[in-house]
Amino acid sequence: MNIAITAHDSKKELMVQFCIAYCGILSRHNLCSTGTTGKLVSEATGLNIQRFLSGSQGGDQQIASRIACNEIDMLLFFRDPHLSNTNEANEVNEMNLLRLCDVHTIPMATNIATGEVLIHGLERGDLDWRNIANPHR
Ligand code: PGA
Repeated sequence: MNIAITAHDSKKELMVQFCIAYCGILSRHNLCSTGTTGKLVSEATGLNIQRFLSGSQGGDQQIASRIACNEIDMLLFFRDPHLSNTNEANEVNEMNLLRLCDVHTIPMATNIATGEVLIHGLERGDLDWRNIANPHR
């Protein structure tokens, strides 16, 4: 499966801890991320992660475009609900990322509790239908 990872600044450490905890499972999948999140996670875990640009530089949109092309099977996006989004453009991009997951029926987690459910489901094979639906991927 192709798993995309990103996190707001205040949630990056949580994402790192999450990826350390589930490193064994994550290592069996293809990972991609926004720039800083991927750097921190790969440094802490040794996981091989394809890193896109930083979110503010268009990394969110790079992930969004892969979702639009049906090249992503799961999005882990740990969000800070208290973040006062001073940058309207960023907020629009983030909302688009979440919207595209709904358009393409991509499982997404915006907090660690849902992230855990998705990772356990992934391990159990709950997402194997995606391979059947996209056998040439
Ligand atoms: P980053 O992007 O991982 O490069 O920080 C995510 C974000 O901007 O929130």
